[in-house]
Amino acid sequence: MTDFQIEIVPELTIPPFLVGEVKSKLAYLDEHIRQGEVAPAGDRILLVLDLEPDPALRSSLESKVQRVVTALVKGAFKPKVQVLEDCLDRPVTYGRDPLPELLERGEVSQEANGVFAMGPLLSRLINYFEGRFLGLADSFAARPYRFPTLIPARYMDRVNYFSAFPHSLSFATHLRTDLDVIDEFASHATCGEHGLSTPMESFSQIEMMLSPAVCYHLYFALADKTLPGGQVVATAVGNCFRFESSNLASLERLWNFTMREVIFVGAKDFVMQNRETARQRMKDTFQEIGLAYKVESANDPFFIGEFRKQAAFQSAFQLKYEIRARLPFKDSTLAVGSYNYHQDFFGRRLNISLPDGSPAHTGCVAFGLERIAFAFLAQFGLDPQGWPAAVRQAMNPEES
Ligand code: 5GP
Ligand code: ZN
Repeated sequence: MTDFQIEIVPELTIPPFLVGEVKSKLAYLDEHIRQGEVAPAGDRILLVLDLEPDPALRSSLESKVQRVVTALVKGAFKPKVQVLEDCLDRPVTYGRDPLPELLERGEVSQEANGVFAMGPLLSRLINYFEGRFLGLADSFAARPYRFPTLIPARYMDRVNYFSAFPHSLSFATHLRTDLDVIDEFASHATCGEHGLSTPMESFSQIEMMLSPAVCYHLYFALADKTLPGGQVVATAVGNCFRFESSNLASLERLWNFTMREVIFVGAKDFVMQNRETARQRMKDTFQEIGLAYKVESANDPFFIGEFRKQAAFQSAFQLKYEIRARLPFKDSTLAVGSYNYHQDFFGRRLNISLPDGSPAHTGCVAFGLERIAFAFLAQFGLDPQGWPAAVRQAMNPEES
Protein backbone atom coordinates (compact mmCIF):
# COMPACT_ATOMS: atom_id res chain seq x y z
CA MET A 1 0.00 0.00 0.00
CA THR A 2 1.28 3.48 -0.86
CA ASP A 3 1.57 6.15 1.80
CA PHE A 4 0.60 9.78 1.33
CA GLN A 5 1.87 12.47 3.62
CA ILE A 6 0.56 15.87 4.49
CA GLU A 7 2.11 18.53 6.65
CA ILE A 8 0.10 20.91 8.80
CA VAL A 9 1.39 23.96 10.64
CA PRO A 10 -0.44 24.25 13.98
CA GLU A 11 -1.83 27.67 14.86
CA LEU A 12 -0.29 27.35 18.30
CA THR A 13 3.21 25.98 18.79
CA ILE A 14 3.09 22.79 20.82
CA PRO A 15 5.32 23.03 23.91
CA PRO A 16 7.72 20.09 24.47
CA PHE A 17 5.74 18.74 27.44
CA LEU A 18 2.66 18.30 25.21
CA VAL A 19 4.32 16.90 22.07
CA GLY A 20 3.71 13.26 23.12
CA GLU A 21 0.14 13.98 24.19
CA VAL A 22 -0.75 15.68 20.86
CA LYS A 23 0.95 12.90 18.90
CA SER A 24 -1.05 10.19 20.66
CA LYS A 25 -4.32 12.02 19.87
CA LEU A 26 -3.54 12.31 16.13
CA ALA A 27 -4.34 8.62 15.75
CA TYR A 28 -8.01 9.36 16.48
CA LEU A 29 -8.59 12.18 14.00
CA ASP A 30 -9.51 10.19 10.92
CA GLU A 31 -9.65 6.56 9.84
CA HIS A 32 -7.28 7.24 6.97
CA ILE A 33 -4.43 8.22 9.28
CA ARG A 34 -1.78 5.53 9.56
CA GLN A 35 0.67 7.55 11.58
CA GLY A 36 0.93 11.01 13.03
CA GLU A 37 4.10 12.82 14.04
CA VAL A 38 4.79 16.12 15.75
CA ALA A 39 8.11 17.84 14.97
CA PRO A 40 10.19 18.11 18.17
CA ALA A 41 9.98 21.91 17.93
CA GLY A 42 6.18 21.60 18.04
CA ASP A 43 5.69 23.74 14.93
CA ARG A 44 4.76 21.10 12.35
CA ILE A 45 2.53 18.04 12.22
CA LEU A 46 3.00 15.26 9.72
CA LEU A 47 0.17 12.87 8.90
CA VAL A 48 0.74 9.65 6.96
CA LEU A 49 -2.45 8.59 5.16
CA ASP A 50 -3.53 5.42 3.39
CA LEU A 51 -4.92 7.34 0.39
CA GLU A 52 -4.27 10.51 -1.54
CA PRO A 53 -6.31 13.19 0.23
CA ASP A 54 -8.81 15.18 -1.85
CA PRO A 55 -9.36 18.86 -0.94
CA ALA A 56 -12.31 17.97 1.35
CA LEU A 57 -10.22 15.51 3.37
CA ARG A 58 -7.31 17.94 3.53
CA SER A 59 -9.46 20.68 4.92
CA SER A 60 -11.18 18.36 7.41
CA LEU A 61 -7.79 17.10 8.66
CA GLU A 62 -6.47 20.64 8.91
CA SER A 63 -9.41 21.75 11.03
CA LYS A 64 -9.31 18.64 13.25
CA VAL A 65 -5.58 19.14 13.88
CA GLN A 66 -6.17 22.78 14.84
CA ARG A 67 -9.04 21.72 17.13
CA VAL A 68 -6.90 19.20 18.97
CA VAL A 69 -3.90 21.48 19.27
CA THR A 70 -5.98 24.39 20.53
CA ALA A 71 -7.82 22.22 23.07
CA LEU A 72 -4.61 20.76 24.46
CA VAL A 73 -2.24 23.71 24.20
CA LYS A 74 -4.25 26.89 24.85
CA GLY A 75 -3.79 27.94 28.46
CA ALA A 76 -1.86 24.78 29.37
CA PHE A 77 0.75 24.96 32.14
CA LYS A 78 3.83 22.81 32.23
CA PRO A 79 3.17 20.34 35.03
CA LYS A 80 5.81 20.14 37.72
CA VAL A 81 7.08 16.60 37.41
CA GLN A 82 7.93 15.19 40.80
CA VAL A 83 10.50 12.38 40.72
CA LEU A 84 10.19 10.11 43.76
CA GLU A 85 12.69 7.44 42.75
CA ASP A 86 15.41 7.53 40.14
CA CYS A 87 17.15 4.23 39.49
CA LEU A 88 17.47 4.69 35.73
CA ASP A 89 21.22 4.23 35.79
CA ARG A 90 21.12 0.71 37.22
CA PRO A 91 23.34 -1.46 35.03
CA VAL A 92 21.53 -3.34 32.28
CA THR A 93 22.99 -5.93 29.92
CA TYR A 94 20.96 -5.60 26.73
CA GLY A 95 20.37 -2.91 24.17
CA ARG A 96 18.13 -4.31 21.44
CA ASP A 97 14.39 -4.36 20.88
CA PRO A 98 13.36 -7.82 22.13
CA LEU A 99 10.27 -8.05 19.89
CA PRO A 100 11.84 -9.20 16.59
CA GLU A 101 13.65 -12.04 18.35
CA LEU A 102 10.56 -12.98 20.38
CA LEU A 103 8.60 -13.20 17.11
CA GLU A 104 11.33 -15.14 15.36
CA ARG A 105 11.58 -17.70 18.15
CA GLY A 106 7.80 -18.12 18.26
CA GLU A 107 7.73 -16.79 21.83
CA VAL A 108 5.07 -14.28 20.79
CA SER A 109 2.72 -14.27 17.85
CA GLN A 110 0.63 -11.38 16.70
CA GLU A 111 -3.10 -12.07 16.23
CA ALA A 112 -4.04 -8.50 15.30
CA ASN A 113 -2.91 -4.95 15.99
CA GLY A 114 -2.32 -4.76 19.73
CA VAL A 115 -3.28 -8.41 20.28
CA PHE A 116 -0.50 -10.91 20.99
CA ALA A 117 -0.30 -14.54 22.13
CA MET A 118 2.63 -15.29 24.43
CA GLY A 119 4.69 -18.44 24.73
CA PRO A 120 6.60 -20.05 27.62
CA LEU A 121 9.32 -17.41 28.09
CA LEU A 122 6.96 -14.49 28.62
CA SER A 123 4.39 -16.63 30.45
CA ARG A 124 6.99 -17.79 32.96
CA LEU A 125 8.41 -14.32 33.37
CA ILE A 126 4.92 -12.90 33.92
CA ASN A 127 4.24 -15.63 36.50
CA TYR A 128 7.42 -14.60 38.27
CA PHE A 129 6.36 -10.93 38.39
CA GLU A 130 2.85 -11.99 39.41
CA GLY A 131 4.46 -13.82 42.35
CA ARG A 132 6.18 -10.60 43.40
CA PHE A 133 2.97 -8.57 43.07
CA LEU A 134 1.05 -11.20 45.02
CA GLY A 135 3.76 -10.89 47.66
CA LEU A 136 2.96 -7.18 47.85
CA ALA A 137 -0.78 -7.96 48.10
CA ASP A 138 -0.12 -10.51 50.87
CA SER A 139 1.93 -7.97 52.82
CA PHE A 140 -1.34 -5.99 53.15
CA ALA A 141 -3.41 -9.16 53.75
CA ALA A 142 -5.32 -8.16 50.60
CA ARG A 143 -8.51 -10.13 49.94
CA PRO A 144 -8.47 -11.91 46.57
CA TYR A 145 -11.15 -11.17 43.99
CA ARG A 146 -11.96 -12.39 40.49
CA PHE A 147 -13.70 -9.98 38.17
CA PRO A 148 -15.30 -10.43 34.74
CA THR A 149 -13.76 -9.15 31.55
CA LEU A 150 -17.09 -7.57 30.60
CA ILE A 151 -18.38 -4.52 32.43
CA PRO A 152 -21.88 -3.00 32.04
CA ALA A 153 -21.92 0.23 30.01
CA ARG A 154 -24.17 1.80 32.66
CA TYR A 155 -21.40 1.29 35.23
CA MET A 156 -18.93 3.15 33.03
CA ASP A 157 -21.47 5.91 32.47
CA ARG A 158 -21.90 6.30 36.23
CA VAL A 159 -18.18 7.08 36.71
CA ASN A 160 -17.91 9.58 33.82
CA TYR A 161 -15.77 7.25 31.72
CA PHE A 162 -17.56 8.21 28.50
CA SER A 163 -16.40 11.81 28.58
CA ALA A 164 -12.94 11.12 30.05
CA PHE A 165 -11.75 8.28 27.76
CA PRO A 166 -14.24 7.84 24.87
CA HIS A 167 -11.46 7.13 22.38
CA SER A 168 -10.20 4.01 24.12
CA LEU A 169 -13.52 2.27 24.84
CA SER A 170 -14.16 -1.25 23.55
CA PHE A 171 -17.71 -2.50 23.13
CA ALA A 172 -19.19 -6.01 23.32
CA THR A 173 -22.28 -7.08 21.45
CA HIS A 174 -23.98 -10.23 20.14
CA LEU A 175 -26.46 -11.08 17.39
CA ARG A 176 -30.00 -9.94 18.05
CA THR A 177 -32.06 -12.76 19.51
CA ASP A 178 -34.12 -13.12 16.34
CA LEU A 179 -34.12 -16.42 14.45
CA ASP A 180 -34.06 -14.69 11.05
CA VAL A 181 -31.02 -12.64 12.01
CA ILE A 182 -29.18 -15.69 13.41
CA ASP A 183 -30.03 -17.86 10.38
CA GLU A 184 -28.94 -15.10 8.01
CA PHE A 185 -25.63 -14.80 9.89
CA ALA A 186 -25.05 -18.57 9.98
CA SER A 187 -25.51 -18.92 6.23
CA HIS A 188 -23.98 -15.73 4.88
CA ALA A 189 -21.53 -14.14 7.32
CA THR A 190 -17.94 -13.97 6.14
CA CYS A 191 -14.96 -12.18 7.54
CA GLY A 192 -12.78 -10.25 5.13
CA GLU A 193 -9.71 -8.12 5.57
CA HIS A 194 -11.75 -5.31 7.06
CA GLY A 195 -13.95 -7.40 9.34
CA LEU A 196 -17.35 -9.08 9.28
CA SER A 197 -19.69 -8.63 6.35
CA THR A 198 -22.69 -8.54 8.72
CA PRO A 199 -24.79 -5.35 8.76
CA MET A 200 -24.75 -3.41 12.03
CA GLU A 201 -28.54 -3.84 12.41
CA SER A 202 -27.97 -7.55 13.08
CA PHE A 203 -26.26 -6.73 16.38
CA SER A 204 -27.97 -6.08 19.67
CA GLN A 205 -27.90 -2.66 21.27
CA ILE A 206 -24.68 -2.31 23.23
CA GLU A 207 -25.10 -2.85 26.95
CA MET A 208 -21.68 -4.26 27.77
CA MET A 209 -18.12 -3.11 27.35
CA LEU A 210 -14.70 -4.69 27.76
CA SER A 211 -13.23 -3.60 31.07
CA PRO A 212 -10.54 -0.88 30.85
CA ALA A 213 -9.29 -1.45 34.43
CA VAL A 214 -9.59 -3.91 37.28
CA CYS A 215 -10.38 -1.76 40.32
CA TYR A 216 -13.68 -0.40 38.94
CA HIS A 217 -15.27 -3.80 39.52
CA LEU A 218 -14.48 -3.60 43.22
CA TYR A 219 -15.92 -0.11 43.54
CA PHE A 220 -19.15 -1.26 41.90
CA ALA A 221 -19.31 -4.28 44.23
CA LEU A 222 -19.11 -1.83 47.16
CA ALA A 223 -21.55 0.72 45.69
CA ASP A 224 -24.57 2.05 47.61
CA LYS A 225 -23.41 0.51 50.88
CA THR A 226 -21.53 1.30 54.03
CA LEU A 227 -18.04 -0.17 53.89
CA PRO A 228 -17.89 -3.07 56.35
CA GLY A 229 -15.24 -2.29 59.00
CA GLY A 230 -14.56 1.04 57.29
CA GLN A 231 -11.72 -0.25 55.10
CA VAL A 232 -10.90 -2.86 52.46
CA VAL A 233 -7.71 -4.01 50.80
CA ALA A 234 -8.31 -6.24 47.78
CA THR A 235 -6.31 -7.66 44.92
CA ALA A 236 -7.24 -9.03 41.51
CA VAL A 237 -5.75 -9.63 38.10
CA GLY A 238 -7.73 -9.13 34.92
CA ASN A 239 -7.82 -8.57 31.21
CA CYS A 240 -8.06 -4.88 30.37
CA PHE A 241 -8.84 -3.22 27.06
CA ARG A 242 -7.87 0.20 25.77
CA PHE A 243 -8.22 0.82 22.07
CA GLU A 244 -5.28 2.88 20.89
CA SER A 245 -5.81 2.99 17.12
CA SER A 246 -2.56 3.32 15.18
CA ASN A 247 -0.68 3.94 18.45
CA LEU A 248 -0.87 0.19 19.11
CA ALA A 249 2.70 -0.96 18.75
CA SER A 250 4.65 -3.94 19.93
CA LEU A 251 4.04 -5.25 23.46
CA GLU A 252 4.43 -1.68 24.69
CA ARG A 253 0.89 -0.71 23.79
CA LEU A 254 -1.70 -3.44 23.58
CA TRP A 255 -5.44 -3.31 22.98
CA ASN A 256 -5.82 -6.29 25.31
CA PHE A 257 -3.43 -6.47 28.25
CA THR A 258 -3.37 -7.81 31.79
CA MET A 259 -3.25 -5.81 34.97
CA ARG A 260 -2.66 -6.87 38.57
CA GLU A 261 -4.01 -4.39 41.07
CA VAL A 262 -3.87 -3.97 44.83
CA ILE A 263 -6.80 -1.76 45.80
CA PHE A 264 -7.34 0.30 48.94
CA VAL A 265 -10.73 1.64 50.04
CA GLY A 266 -11.28 3.54 53.29
CA ALA A 267 -10.53 6.87 54.94
CA LYS A 268 -8.20 9.35 53.23
CA ASP A 269 -5.19 8.64 55.47
CA PHE A 270 -5.61 4.90 55.19
CA VAL A 271 -5.52 5.04 51.38
CA MET A 272 -2.70 7.60 51.15
CA GLN A 273 -0.52 5.77 53.67
CA ASN A 274 -1.03 2.39 52.05
CA ARG A 275 -0.23 3.78 48.62
CA GLU A 276 3.03 5.11 50.04
CA THR A 277 3.81 1.85 51.89
CA ALA A 278 3.20 -0.08 48.67
CA ARG A 279 5.66 2.17 46.87
CA GLN A 280 8.33 1.64 49.55
CA ARG A 281 7.86 -2.13 49.42
CA MET A 282 8.05 -2.20 45.63
CA LYS A 283 11.24 -0.13 45.78
CA ASP A 284 12.93 -3.07 47.53
CA THR A 285 11.45 -5.55 45.07
CA PHE A 286 12.66 -3.59 42.05
CA GLN A 287 16.10 -3.35 43.59
CA GLU A 288 16.23 -7.14 43.97
CA ILE A 289 15.05 -7.62 40.41
CA GLY A 290 17.67 -5.13 39.21
CA LEU A 291 15.18 -3.10 37.17
CA ALA A 292 16.33 0.28 35.86
CA TYR A 293 13.38 2.63 36.39
CA LYS A 294 12.07 5.84 37.89
CA VAL A 295 8.87 6.79 39.69
CA GLU A 296 7.43 10.17 38.78
CA SER A 297 4.16 12.08 38.85
CA ALA A 298 1.96 11.59 35.80
CA ASN A 299 -1.52 12.03 34.42
CA ASP A 300 -4.00 9.77 32.64
CA PRO A 301 -4.47 10.12 28.86
CA PHE A 302 -7.80 11.98 29.07
CA PHE A 303 -9.45 12.78 25.76
CA ILE A 304 -9.24 16.19 24.17
CA GLY A 305 -12.15 17.98 25.85
CA GLU A 306 -11.27 16.79 29.35
CA PHE A 307 -7.52 16.72 29.08
CA ARG A 308 -6.40 20.15 30.17
CA LYS A 309 -8.51 20.43 33.29
CA GLN A 310 -8.23 16.82 34.47
CA ALA A 311 -4.51 16.43 33.80
CA ALA A 312 -3.76 19.67 35.65
CA PHE A 313 -5.92 18.52 38.56
CA GLN A 314 -4.17 15.15 38.74
CA SER A 315 -0.73 16.66 38.77
CA ALA A 316 -1.63 19.47 41.21
CA PHE A 317 -2.88 16.94 43.76
CA GLN A 318 -0.27 14.27 42.94
CA LEU A 319 -2.94 11.70 42.29
CA LYS A 320 -0.84 9.51 40.01
CA TYR A 321 2.74 8.29 40.05
CA GLU A 322 4.05 6.06 37.31
CA ILE A 323 6.76 3.41 37.52
CA ARG A 324 8.64 4.01 34.29
CA ALA A 325 11.11 1.29 33.28
CA ARG A 326 14.00 2.12 31.02
CA LEU A 327 13.90 0.84 27.43
CA PRO A 328 17.58 1.01 26.46
CA PHE A 329 16.96 0.21 22.78
CA LYS A 330 15.00 3.40 22.22
CA ASP A 331 16.47 5.53 24.95
CA SER A 332 13.09 6.10 26.55
CA THR A 333 10.93 4.77 29.37
CA LEU A 334 7.71 2.77 29.55
CA ALA A 335 5.06 2.92 32.30
CA VAL A 336 4.98 -0.56 33.83
CA GLY A 337 2.80 0.37 36.77
CA SER A 338 1.17 3.19 38.67
CA TYR A 339 0.34 4.31 42.20
CA ASN A 340 -3.06 6.01 42.10
CA TYR A 341 -5.21 7.98 44.52
CA HIS A 342 -8.73 8.88 43.37
CA GLN A 343 -9.67 10.97 46.42
CA ASP A 344 -13.38 10.37 47.14
CA PHE A 345 -14.38 10.37 43.44
CA PHE A 346 -15.65 6.78 43.41
CA GLY A 347 -16.94 7.04 46.99
CA ARG A 348 -19.18 9.97 45.97
CA ARG A 349 -20.16 8.77 42.51
CA LEU A 350 -21.01 5.26 43.67
CA ASN A 351 -22.21 6.09 47.13
CA ILE A 352 -19.65 4.02 49.04
CA SER A 353 -19.87 5.25 52.64
CA LEU A 354 -17.59 5.03 55.63
CA PRO A 355 -19.22 4.17 58.97
CA ASP A 356 -19.36 7.91 59.83
CA GLY A 357 -21.44 8.51 56.69
CA SER A 358 -18.72 10.28 54.69
CA PRO A 359 -17.75 9.02 51.22
CA ALA A 360 -14.91 6.47 51.05
CA HIS A 361 -11.58 7.31 49.45
CA THR A 362 -9.95 4.88 47.03
CA GLY A 363 -6.56 4.19 45.57
CA CYS A 364 -4.87 1.42 43.66
CA VAL A 365 -1.48 0.13 42.70
CA ALA A 366 -1.63 -1.26 39.16
CA PHE A 367 0.98 -3.28 37.27
CA GLY A 368 0.90 -3.99 33.54
CA LEU A 369 2.11 -7.57 33.28
CA GLU A 370 3.05 -7.65 29.59
CA ARG A 371 4.82 -4.33 29.93
CA ILE A 372 6.95 -5.26 32.91
CA ALA A 373 8.01 -8.52 31.21
CA PHE A 374 8.77 -6.63 28.00
CA ALA A 375 10.80 -3.94 29.79
CA PHE A 376 12.71 -6.61 31.71
CA LEU A 377 13.63 -8.39 28.45
CA ALA A 378 14.57 -5.05 26.89
CA GLN A 379 17.03 -4.51 29.77
CA PHE A 380 18.38 -8.04 30.18
CA GLY A 381 17.74 -9.92 26.94
CA LEU A 382 16.09 -13.24 26.17
CA ASP A 383 18.82 -15.46 27.56
CA PRO A 384 18.25 -16.20 31.28
CA GLN A 385 22.05 -16.43 31.71
CA GLY A 386 22.17 -12.65 31.40
CA TRP A 387 19.42 -12.03 33.95
CA PRO A 388 19.89 -10.72 37.48
CA ALA A 389 20.45 -13.64 39.88
CA ALA A 390 17.24 -13.08 41.88
CA VAL A 391 15.07 -13.60 38.81
CA ARG A 392 17.15 -16.41 37.30
CA GLN A 393 17.19 -18.41 40.51
CA ALA A 394 13.52 -17.89 41.27
CA MET A 395 12.61 -19.17 37.83
CA ASN A 396 15.06 -22.04 37.93
CA PRO A 397 15.50 -23.07 41.59
CA GLU A 398 17.73 -26.07 40.71
CA GLU A 399 20.41 -23.68 39.57
CA SER A 400 21.07 -22.19 43.02
P1 5GP B 1 -3.02 2.99 34.38
O1 5GP B 1 -4.26 2.65 35.15
O2 5GP B 1 -1.95 3.63 35.20
O3 5GP B 1 -3.31 3.71 33.11
O4 5GP B 1 -2.46 1.58 33.90
C1 5GP B 1 -1.80 0.73 34.78
C2 5GP B 1 -0.75 -0.03 34.03
O5 5GP B 1 -1.36 -0.84 33.02
C3 5GP B 1 0.22 0.86 33.26
O6 5GP B 1 1.23 1.36 34.07
C4 5GP B 1 0.75 -0.12 32.23
O7 5GP B 1 1.76 -0.91 32.75
C5 5GP B 1 -0.47 -0.99 31.93
N1 5GP B 1 -1.06 -0.50 30.68
C6 5GP B 1 -1.86 0.57 30.51
N2 5GP B 1 -2.16 0.72 29.20
C7 5GP B 1 -1.50 -0.26 28.53
C8 5GP B 1 -1.39 -0.62 27.15
O8 5GP B 1 -1.96 -0.01 26.25
N3 5GP B 1 -0.60 -1.69 26.86
C9 5GP B 1 0.04 -2.40 27.80
N4 5GP B 1 0.80 -3.44 27.40
N5 5GP B 1 -0.05 -2.08 29.11
C10 5GP B 1 -0.80 -1.04 29.47
ZN1 ZN C 1 -7.05 0.82 39.54
